[in-house]
Amino acid sequence: QAKQAGRNGMRFFDRQMQDRISERAQMENDLRHAVERHRFALHYQVQVDQHGNARGAEALIRWVRDDGTMVSPASFIALAEETGLILPIGSWVLETACAQLKAWQQMPEMAHLILAINVSAQQFHQAEFGEQVRAAVQRHGIDPRLLKLELTEGVLLDKIEDTIACMQLLKAMGVRFALDDFGTGYSSLQYLKRLPLNQLKIDQSFVRDLVSDSSDQAIVRTIIAMARSLQLDVIAEGVETEAQRALLEELGCRRYQGYLFSRPVPEPQLRALVKDSPRTAAVV
Ligand code: C2E
Ligand code: MG
Ligand code: MG
Ligand code: MG
Repeated sequence: QAKQAGRNGMRFFDRQMQDRISERAQMENDLRHAVERHRFALHYQVQVDQHGNARGAEALIRWVRDDGTMVSPASFIALAEETGLILPIGSWVLETACAQLKAWQQMPEMAHLILAINVSAQQFHQAEFGEQVRAAVQRHGIDPRLLKLELTEGVLLDKIEDTIACMQLLKAMGVRFALDDFGTGYSSLQYLKRLPLNQLKIDQSFVRDLVSDSSDQAIVRTIIAMARSLQLDVIAEGVETEAQRALLEELGCRRYQGYLFSRPVPEPQLRALVKDSPRTAAVV
């Protein structure tokens, strides 16, 4: 009886494993096809200042399935990293973002926006990454000061000397750097001060319960103080309510991104949004 159940249990387990493996293989296969046929889209989420003026946007990738549904990066970026597909995907993002920035340069109401793109560890640590960015900026004829690269702490902690050298090269051109998901990693001040960053991006996990959680308030206050002492800008992500925004402002944060202002949207919708937003002169 017990032996029987054990065997069945094993068989059940095997089947689950099998399903998971073939599901993953199918998804990898589909993703490979998507890469070959460039079946991706960038959505844009506005970044605003304390007056509600649009100052920039973050480009967030979506995988466009054949039936038109959008797959969130949360469900394919990890697979893309494991399979190396993140490299062609990252190149596509860089190209598409640069082309978009170029197009915005011809539109008076969009010309001041800084466009941020997410860069994965593998992509950043390719020997030719710096050159790839330089070439893309030049080929599209865009102002490099309008391009911002979002890196995570994990990217930066790896091969620190090469990382700093690559960042310095790009920063000398005018390209900006933000440290994404800040506060979720292990960066020390000692280490942060060596990196040529422009901005710290407060992770949304500290914003979510900010209004009610005094330890999140303490963390955000500390991040803002760190940013100040390192002379970095600070932006908060995941801002969903006016109460969160107001408290962030009170704590000294002057840039915000989140559903309170807009979800990530296709480019024409971003344009409509920016047109309607109050605006001040570009600070580049
Ligand atoms: P991230 O760079 O930290 O982007 C912020 C994520 O939070 C986005 O999810 C965004 O849609 C979501 N978000 C924005 N505002 C709010 C809010 O008010 N509330 C909540 N709950 N969420 C908000 P998304 O678009 O699903 O992207 C997830 C992650 O995938 C990104 O996190 C980034 O790490 C990665 N990713 C996205 N696009 C790219 C890309 O082009 N290349 C690479 N390498 N990674 C990307
Ligand atoms: Mg990001
Ligand atoms: Mg983030
Ligand atoms: Mg995040």
